[in-house]
Amino acid sequence: MKKSLSGNTWSGSTWDGKSIYTKKTQEDDGTGRLYTITANFRKYPCVEDSIADHSAYLLGAMNGSKLRYAGLKGCADYKKAVRIIKDGGYATSITYVEKLVGIIERWNLTQYDVKEANTPATKPIAKRTIHDITKENLSEVPRSRGGNKIEFIVVHYLGVPNADNSYLYGGGYGGHYNIKRDGTIYKAADPKTGVVWHCGGGLQGSGGHSFYQICTNFNSIGIECGVCYTDTSVKDASGDSDQWYFTTETQESLVWLVAKLMDEYGISADHVIRHYDVTGKICPNPYVKNNRLRTSWTWDEFKSRLAEYRKSGGYDSGATEETTSWYRVRKDWSDAASQKGAYKVLENAKACADENPGYSVLDSDGVKIYSSKSAGQETPTVPFLVRVSIDDLNIRTGPGTDFSRTVRYTGKGVFTIVEVREGPGSDAGWGRLKSGAGWCSLDFCQKI
Ligand SMILES: [Zn+2]
Repeated sequence: MKKSLSGNTWSGSTWDGKSIYTKKTQEDDGTGRLYTITANFRKYPCVEDSIADHSAYLLGAMNGSKLRYAGLKGCADYKKAVRIIKDGGYATSITYVEKLVGIIERWNLTQYDVKEANTPATKPIAKRTIHDITKENLSEVPRSRGGNKIEFIVVHYLGVPNADNSYLYGGGYGGHYNIKRDGTIYKAADPKTGVVWHCGGGLQGSGGHSFYQICTNFNSIGIECGVCYTDTSVKDASGDSDQWYFTTETQESLVWLVAKLMDEYGISADHVIRHYDVTGKICPNPYVKNNRLRTSWTWDEFKSRLAEYRKSGGYDSGATEETTSWYRVRKDWSDAASQKGAYKVLENAKACADENPGYSVLDSDGVKIYSSKSAGQETPTVPFLVRVSIDDLNIRTGPGTDFSRTVRYTGKGVFTIVEVREGPGSDAGWGRLKSGAGWCSLDFCQKI
């Protein structure tokens, strides 16, 4: 953007107020004739800051006492938005609207006007708790750090499909810290006193390794992240596959933890690196592939989140409760890969479940507290009577085959159902027996 625009300032500007560069630019004299001027433009340290300032300008610039681009905020019609920008005086070109609309349509740019399914970038990251298990791992820490200064933070992934880890492996392999897929952080070894084996070894492949022999096990902290894989049935998968991804919780915990360690050890952002940057290993896979699979960010997105978070005041400012409990929306607790999102507000979690038939809201202990209604399926009015015509209909302790069987069967007969819930293993849902004996599958009951 030009150095001076609209002759005023606006809130939220990311420009430092002085950095500029000069270049030639064309202006329209109002008749379609172009002439060239040399003007000063604002200079920013990164492209994100330039975009942020541009957006802040369009939303906040004033014309007298009125917003220069009134009506732009929340405008979802691109033609209208472009017209508002032109009418506000943003560009002198008389064909500005046609040109911009033409570009949007030619490249079908409205395809990107979708609500971000992942967590919005501006969502604050709650303070995390670090579970300190260093004492249990002491015997595994291979050697002390000696006089080596800690200069790097190296990020890894576990490399085992749909798995987490908290401990150091035998011989001292693994991370000082481990982050699980649900975002829980474990400290397995104290970086101050112990070196662990996490980023050594020879060169692999041809990419990365710009920090080879610069960052070593002796001057770095290792963080290993639990990871998901799209095919939940596989037990082992290639490190080169493009089907690995991180949960939002893992990544947010990683932002929080890295920010904290940077402050604690005085490590700069350019010394926050991937295992890939040391030996060339495809690790952490989602941040080397950068394919944004499901909830994964790219490595650059992770770095921007980290910068944004530190800019907002660091790892423990603005922190919410340490014991924040999350409501997760999944098919089932054990099926972490099915997770659609994690919410602090129950109503938001319920709304997400409602948008996804077959999904439930689970509290932080994994207890199902709400299930989405399948489309077109009304919750039956209870109580009602059912007839069971088989001898061996199991009674379970809860609504689903994931609840254990009681030792009893209903037996043949007529029974009263006082509550109906969805749950795995029964298409028609599960009915709670009035007797208090438990739940049975309505697939084997005939409503009468
Ligand atoms: Zn690694």
